[in-house]
Amino acid sequence: MTRHGNSHWAGYELRRARMVERLQQMGICRSEVLDAMAQVPRHLFVEEAIRSHAYDDMSLPLGLGQTISQPYTVAVMTQLLLGEEPLSARRCVLEIGTGCGYQTAVLQALGLPEIYSIERLRPLHERAKVHLRAAHLPQQARLVCGDGYLGLPQAAPFDGILVTAAPTEIPVPLLQQLAVGGRMVLPLDDGHAQFLWVIDKTEHGFQETCVQEALFVPLVNGV
Ligand code: SAH
Repeated sequence: MTRHGNSHWAGYELRRARMVERLQQMGICRSEVLDAMAQVPRHLFVEEAIRSHAYDDMSLPLGLGQTISQPYTVAVMTQLLLGEEPLSARRCVLEIGTGCGYQTAVLQALGLPEIYSIERLRPLHERAKVHLRAAHLPQQARLVCGDGYLGLPQAAPFDGILVTAAPTEIPVPLLQQLAVGGRMVLPLDDGHAQFLWVIDKTEHGFQETCVQEALFVPLVNGV
């Protein structure tokens, strides 16, 4: 690596460390989530022209009208997915809306053994593969190009489902593909505002909790 390249790299490391400190100050307390976000080179997931903003707490354009969530949102969603459970309770996890692959990378950095992520737009799906290869994370994820509204029945049931685009109703196939003891985190759009919900599947049915306001691109129903 050239001298310039090295100093550039060190710059990103410093910014990433500051981002993690900021997340902690903002209330992210689960150490595994902070460690995972300290590991993922977020700048490799965005276009070169906006790389200097990769570690700022803002959402960024990722092409084709889609956006990568701000770091705080990724941290909150990941922390909610884990809940009070140990990491081992979320063995098999599905993400809907791969986008640039950053949230997938955070799941990989957590070391979850089985990770699937679905994206409907092929160019983003292909680009996410490139980003994840460049990030050199220890765990692998299986990326699928298709309609995430339908979930991934062939790999179900899932201990965790993370939806990173907002539907107007909870997709029924996703409820069906959740394991008992599993948890889904998703933004729901009621036509006026979006709220982040946590859905736990118990032996007796579903328990739904509204967490906070959210802002995501729409989940498209049908490819
Ligand atoms: N998790 C992403 C954020 C993605 S933005 C990241 O870390 O970058 C939401 C993504 O959901 C967009 O890429 C959009 O194309 C995708 N999406 C919307 N509807 C979808 C559907 N029905 N199935 C799969 N992906 C969908």
